[in-house]
Amino acid sequence: MNEFDLIQSYFNWQSTDPNVLLGVGDDAALFDLEPDHQLVTSTDTLVEDIHFFRDTSPSDIAYKSLAVNLSDIAAMGAVAKCFTLSLTLPKINHDWLKEFSASLKKASRLYNVNLIGGDTTKGPLNITITMMGSIKKGKSIQRSGARNKDDIYISGDLGTAALCLKKMNEGIKPSLNELNKLNRPIPRLELGSALKDLASSCIDVSDGLEQDLSHILNSSDVGATIDAQKLPLGEELSQYIKETNDWLLPLCGGDDYELCFTADKASSSKLKKLSETLNIRVTKIGSINASNELKINGYDGSSASYKHF
Ligand code: ADP
Ligand code: MG
Repeated sequence: MNEFDLIQSYFNWQSTDPNVLLGVGDDAALFDLEPDHQLVTSTDTLVEDIHFFRDTSPSDIAYKSLAVNLSDIAAMGAVAKCFTLSLTLPKINHDWLKEFSASLKKASRLYNVNLIGGDTTKGPLNITITMMGSIKKGKSIQRSGARNKDDIYISGDLGTAALCLKKMNEGIKPSLNELNKLNRPIPRLELGSALKDLASSCIDVSDGLEQDLSHILNSSDVGATIDAQKLPLGEELSQYIKETNDWLLPLCGGDDYELCFTADKASSSKLKKLSETLNIRVTKIGSINASNELKINGYDGSSASYKHF
């Protein structure tokens, strides 16, 4: 089998979106955007041994590759539409490809996005997805919009994926819930899209809250105070912190894919309603100030968020 047969067999399924005018099979894809909208695009790569363990299932790898890219589109307040897949494979393994492509197709249907092209090469396992979405002109939520006295919020809860990773590295078997948090993060698409009318800035937490919130602060040229005690934690992590008082995981652990955003105080009742409507926990963890630093009450440990280099 050559790469053309591989693409036909595994990555050329029917699009569900009439806006896809040309998908897999030509030199490039064509996609219609709604009038008065802008293209929002983002790329993320998953590398074996760095972003996932060698024995991670092809199904989980496919799901996560898509989810982490959707999370970036959500953080911009945009609606995800279509994506390309650049796949580097050490060899053609049909069992692997079958499971990977079935999972990718299923996840793309779940989140209503369509595969419109990609690239296939030979080399160490590497999955790069480029996600494209759209948003009404001028409505995107950027990192630079936080203002003095804004409240800081976080969706869902933090640190469980990092706890899972820690357990796996220590040879301890994680619970199913912990594994799902690490391998199957839920991109906050509905929340992100609703936030375009409420949030002043937003980022998805992929490398640790402390580092990702700092990106907002630097871009917005402001500071912040947050309270470690207010961080939303899942059950397992609450228990872990009770036992260890180790706040490093929810503050600096990665792979949460929750949205961290800021909003004017006047938006607080609307945000409460939104959280109830979407049934997503939204927690106020602190506020923006005019300093130029991030102060974390109740934490004096190191800052050790994930950095590639
Ligand atoms: P070209 O040589 O013109 O770049 P390719 O042979 O790389 O074209 O790809 C042929 C077609 O298959 C293109 O439409 C491309 O977008 C698509 N494609 C290649 N690899 C993938 C993949 N892994 N998933 C989806 N589509 C793919
Ligand atoms: Mg070509």
